[in-house]
Amino acid sequence: MNKQVTICGAGLVGSLLAIFLKRQNMDVRVFEKRPDPRKSEVHAGRSINLAISQRGLRALGEAAPGLEKQALALAVPMYGREIHDLNGELHFQAYGETSQHINSIGRAALNELLISTAEQLGVPFSFDLSCSDYDAANQQWIFTSASHEIIKTLPQEILIGADGAFSTVRAMLSKKSAAQPVVDTLDYAYKELEIYSKEATRLTNKEALHIWPRERFMLIALPNADGSYTATLFLPLQGEISFEKLNSPEAIHDFFNTYFADACKLIPNLTEQFSIHPTSKLFTVHTNEWFNTHTLLIGDAAHALVPFYGQGMNAGFEDCRILAEIISTSKEIHWKNIFAEFYRQRKVNADAISDLALKNFIEMRDHVADAEFLVRKQIEKYLHQVIPDIFVPQYTLVSFTDTPYAEAMQAGIEQDAMFEEIMQIENIAASWPTEALQEQVLATVRQYAIK
Ligand code: FAD
Repeated sequence: MNKQVTICGAGLVGSLLAIFLKRQNMDVRVFEKRPDPRKSEVHAGRSINLAISQRGLRALGEAAPGLEKQALALAVPMYGREIHDLNGELHFQAYGETSQHINSIGRAALNELLISTAEQLGVPFSFDLSCSDYDAANQQWIFTSASHEIIKTLPQEILIGADGAFSTVRAMLSKKSAAQPVVDTLDYAYKELEIYSKEATRLTNKEALHIWPRERFMLIALPNADGSYTATLFLPLQGEISFEKLNSPEAIHDFFNTYFADACKLIPNLTEQFSIHPTSKLFTVHTNEWFNTHTLLIGDAAHALVPFYGQGMNAGFEDCRILAEIISTSKEIHWKNIFAEFYRQRKVNADAISDLALKNFIEMRDHVADAEFLVRKQIEKYLHQVIPDIFVPQYTLVSFTDTPYAEAMQAGIEQDAMFEEIMQIENIAASWPTEALQEQVLATVRQYAIK
């Protein structure tokens, strides 16, 4: 039985996977191309903070005792979206029931917690070692340090590629394949801007994800544990209102004053930050080549997605939980069978959350400010309260349950069809919630439940 596993990448997913596998008595080691994030100032990844919800928390809870609690101690709860309209007025939209929330957590702090936990369990991490090639003749993966030192995996050793959206392991796996990975790039990019804790005191709701939706673009801000916020601007790369046009301090100031006047006051050094911080592209990666006899892709390496549902890491953590579950329920460790089963269970769900994430971009930047959409959200909340066994909003399925993403997607398609009909009910948008309208809505839902 081959229990020697090398994980390529000590990001969020690779580090969590190391914990799961070590606790299953595997002989695990991790190679990471960057320096140890606990000893360097270099950011461990792309966004500064992220939202962790049910799927991610469950995986942490199952990986090691106390890990979920330790992670939550680093996080700030977010109970809903605080919408900033063009006039600077605020409208709060709860994510679910009163107590339901997602959590904003610092990427670096979470990554460091996972690496330290894995190390305490006895997993060796080697930093500054980059997976650079695959020697097919000798069935070995080759890792290279900055000083050109070369380390090779043992022939037949298992390698799991958790090396993120730009995965080298993925490139090697699909080298000889006719179907190459497809990278769908959005014509949008993002830029992060810090709102320091001094100015952040002006944001009254600390436990919310702030959004400035402006139809074709948007700004969002997630709270950090130290009282600051990290804002992210999502904007087309080119066109009338785009990153391309924000090419001078005046243009940047005019743009923020016009569309995000209240946010502009929160970032006194806006133009300086704008010029220093990178503008990063957004894309989805689709590939069918997730595994071969000795190699598997996991997390973003297998299925990078756009960040609009806040699910990329959550999906990657769920990958780790499910891989561990498949291993623990296998009678013997036959890796190719395990990888094939993992692919069978996860690919369809990875595809679903990739699609849902793209769809949620339109909801966040555009619909959340739309009056009819807001009524729909109120009706959804009402339905979930009175008939929770029949109606669960799609957002709840994705963020607050472990319902497979593909099922959540299908539920959303059915809910959209049902709401097409509900929103045709006379006076629904203007008069909701009268008793008569509630009756009519319930009747429509029951019809759909029977179908
Ligand atoms: P990564 O975090 O990219 O880690 C990969 C690791 O592999 C890195 O440490 C890298 O240095 C290393 N590596 C790369 N190449 C090599 C190599 N050749 N050899 C050795 N090591 C290598 N997800 C959420 O769930 N919620 C959110 O709110 C959220 N917000 C996001 C916001 C933005 C702007 C973006 C871009 C993403 C967001 N995500 C979010 C997605 C989330 O960041 C990713 O899904 C998550 O980081 C994936 O983890 P990973 O470990 O698979 O990849």
